[in-house]
Amino acid sequence: MADYDYDLFVIGAGSGGVRAARIAANYGAKVAVAEEYRVGGTCVIRGCVPKKLFVYASHFSDDFEDAAGFGWTVGDTKFDWKTLVSNKDKEIDRLNGIYIRNLDKAGVEILDSRATLKDAHTVHLERLGKDVTAERILVAVGATPFLPDIPGIEHAITSNEAFHLEELPKRIVVVGGGYIAVEFAGIFNGLGVETMQLYRGALFMRGFDDDLRELLAEEMEKKGIDLRMNSDIASIEKKDGELHLTLCDGDVIKTDAVMYATGRNPNTKGLGLEQAGVKLGMAGEVVVDEYSKSSVGNIYAVGDVTDRANLTPVAIREGHAFADTVYGGKDVKVDHSIIPTAIFSQPEMGTVGLTEAQARERFDEVDVYKTAFRALKNTLSGSEERTFMKLVVDAKSDKVLGVHIMGPASGEVIQAVGIAVTLGATKAQFDMTIAVHPTAAEELVTLKEKWQAPVIKAAD
Ligand code: NDP
Repeated sequence: MADYDYDLFVIGAGSGGVRAARIAANYGAKVAVAEEYRVGGTCVIRGCVPKKLFVYASHFSDDFEDAAGFGWTVGDTKFDWKTLVSNKDKEIDRLNGIYIRNLDKAGVEILDSRATLKDAHTVHLERLGKDVTAERILVAVGATPFLPDIPGIEHAITSNEAFHLEELPKRIVVVGGGYIAVEFAGIFNGLGVETMQLYRGALFMRGFDDDLRELLAEEMEKKGIDLRMNSDIASIEKKDGELHLTLCDGDVIKTDAVMYATGRNPNTKGLGLEQAGVKLGMAGEVVVDEYSKSSVGNIYAVGDVTDRANLTPVAIREGHAFADTVYGGKDVKVDHSIIPTAIFSQPEMGTVGLTEAQARERFDEVDVYKTAFRALKNTLSGSEERTFMKLVVDAKSDKVLGVHIMGPASGEVIQAVGIAVTLGATKAQFDMTIAVHPTAAEELVTLKEKWQAPVIKAAD
């Protein structure tokens, strides 16, 4: 066997890379991980974790309003952005420290440098100015925000910068219609920023269940977000201390900040993967097999850089499966077919399995059970916000194919429902489950009426 510096060299200390590095080291491999920014990756440093903290912060405005119906008088409220950012940064520093300690404990060497490939076994460490060799290389470099090439795009921010703004803008325009755009529109709106969201298509959240998409749009508008579908920016100009956004239809919108959440690209540029013979896909993603192995036998990739399902828990699972398979003598593949996920929009949404449209494409007969209602809390709070629950069922086997929910704590609920759907539970088994009362989630086990499409009568 050739003599390498390491058994495994991991590029990128995010969720997938850290998990793979630790587990491989626990199996006895000599492992190093290179990170050019901060250990923890997107999720911990500038993604899921700080985002969720911001979501909590933004909910207080609704909570203060809701309190009145329960007899509370809330005095003058005031929000201080700098306090939130600084407290958030402290928490991120704490988590960053935990990640570093866990790698240390596992015996993984952390190299504070950008790493690029020279060939299939040689890594160049830019900051350290040296080359090292490894038997295997794991690419876990994640993804980076994509910004369209329009005049003035340099004035736009992305979620990366949103976490560190010096001041909270008075007005903001959020561009995009995916997870990040709806989550940040909700955050800014809740913090009192005059918020507009632009989406280029007819209805945002493409790929999610249509009922959820429509209801979310209605609820976000009710909360005061100026939601504009079929709308996109042609150019951005900075004038007199504000931004002038010229839309494709010629309209001009004046704002203080514009945040693009128009997707993320795999971070493979300049990494030397092509020179090492690694096949990349159309979006620059590393093409991998079911064991996360690339077209080069000793080079693997996990997480967003592979553009499979770009979610932290999936990256962690892929990293763990790689280490178990390659260093633990097990045969572990990751099943990407059923992935529960939450969208921390306001209201929050949770989803697992097939949408109604996907189910109708794949199954002959599909039953749908759904309900929209005002949750108990809102009878006193006065909030008009609705909660929504939907089950998509294969009529022949009675198997629940998908669950789509909107309302408080949907992320928590869908995690538990995800177990049932992953295990292939039937509608009868959902119904067999005793309800927890009074909760919103009890609707999931008490939905009796099949939803019938309304009969549309021809106009007289
Ligand atoms: P998404 O891919 O989810 O959404 C991108 C949005 O931008 C889509 O609405 C897309 O429109 C639109 N878009 C793309 N290109 C352009 C363009 N040139 N001009 C205008 N609009 C454009 O990306 P996000 O950035 O929201 O999120 C990135 C990833 O992060 C997601 O894959 C998600 O998995 C993950 N994430 C997960 C979270 C969670 O689990 N809660 C939270 C945040 C992020 P169209 O639909 O027409 O293509």
